[in-house]
Order: sequence, then structure tokens, then C-alpha cells
Amino acid sequence: MTLKATTSPKPVPLIGVMGGTFDPIHFGHLRMAQELADALKLAAVRFIPSANPPHRDPPMTSASQRAEMVSLAIADNPLFKLDTRELTREGYSYTIDTLQSLHKELQGSARLCLLMGLDAFAGITRWHRWQGLLQFAHIVVATRPGATLAIENASLHEFLHLHTLTSTQQLHDQAQSGIWMQEITALDISATEIRTQLTHGRTPRYLLPDDVLHHIQQSLLYTK
Ligand code: ATP
Repeated sequence: MTLKATTSPKPVPLIGVMGGTFDPIHFGHLRMAQELADALKLAAVRFIPSANPPHRDPPMTSASQRAEMVSLAIADNPLFKLDTRELTREGYSYTIDTLQSLHKELQGSARLCLLMGLDAFAGITRWHRWQGLLQFAHIVVATRPGATLAIENASLHEFLHLHTLTSTQQLHDQAQSGIWMQEITALDISATEIRTQLTHGRTPRYLLPDDVLHHIQQSLLYTK
């Protein structure tokens, strides 16, 4: 009797990619990254601030200020790394370009998981070459307990149907990239609300790390 060769690739570490404007970074972002890292056994999470996000108003603070705030926020977590590759690129910060460059750099030594909230995923069909994202990474969507995704877009529906994985183990050992929905604790915090509080002279204390808040106050960020 001959044994069939297995088609599963050799398991390699999974690296989370957490993109965002981070204007400023807050506990919603940090808790999401930590819970996904724990649930999916990620070897690291890279925080990649977007220099020039294509789908929203320009950030209120500079790319280097936002990178500095991320750096302060993650300083005491050995799992979290700041990655500034989008800050040195000209033009819009397209996620597909970022994933492609990371994928090339890793040369198969690790696999990528693009981490995003359900709100971001619901708008993914507006992203540049969105269907190509799976060429370079799994997509992991953080959902809140009881949250449902109302998908009106037929191509997004089809995309989910075709690529949804059935277990977290498949993230580690399936050759093709897929989509995984992971429930996390809901923290109703947004950078928009933090900016509003700051511009109105209120304190966003306890919504973001103290070191980030001190930096904001010292550098007079988000004042009118
Ligand atoms: P803004 O209010 O300026 O739009 P934001 O707080 O939504 O900002 P982003 O930098 O736009 O933050 O988000 C980066 C990523 O973090 C996205 O994938 C988004 O879904 C996710 N995210 C943002 N806030 C939370 C939160 N409170 N809990 C879980 N995920 C979040």
C-alpha cells in the first residue's frame, strides 16, 4: 500500500497586519489586535499606519505623529511591531501594495493575516484591487457579539461564500488564503470621538493609553 502525499503546506508562523489611520490609536485597536493574536495564535502583529488613506478625509495629524503615537502605544507589548512602510511611499496608501511588499519580503517564512473590523470589511469592495488581497494574505474580520453583516453587494457575497474558512486551523495549514470571522469583545471607541472630545477641551482619558494622551497634550495635537 502506498501512502498518499499530503497537499497541506508546512505550517509557518502567522503574522497579523493591522492597517489603519490611527488618528489617534486607541484601546479598540489594541484590544482587537490582542484578542485576534490570542485566538489565532499569531506570532506577531504589525501596525501599519496609512500615510495617505484613499477612502476618507485626510488625517488631522501628520503620518509621523501617528506613527509616534502607535510606537508609544505598543512599546510594552513584544508581540506588536510598528511598520512604517506606507509612510515612505508616494501617492495613496493601497493595502494591496503593502501586502505585496510584505509577502515578497517574507519569502514564504510566514503567512499574513490582514486584520480588520466588520465596518472596514463591509466597505472592502471600494478598495483598490480588493479581490486580489487574498493573493497575499488571509483576511480576518473582527466581529462583535451579535453583529451581523448585511451584504447588499453581490460580489462581496460571492467573495465570502467562496473563501470563508471553516476553522482557524485552516489559517495555519491551508495553501489558499481564506476569510475568517472572529468574534471579539466590543469596545465602542472611535478615533473620531476621541478627536471630538479633544477639540472640545474634554478628556478622552481611559479610551487610549496614557502615554499616547500625554504625547497628544504635549504636542498640542487635535486642538482647533
Ligand atoms: P476614525 O474614527 O477616524 O474613522 P477608527 O477609530 O475607526 O478611526 P481606524 O484607524 O480607521 O480607526 O481603524 C483601523 C482598523 O481598526 C479598522 O479595521 C477598524 O475596523 C478597526 N477598529 C477601529 N475601532 C475599533 C474598535 N473600537 N474595535 C474594534 N476594531 C476597531
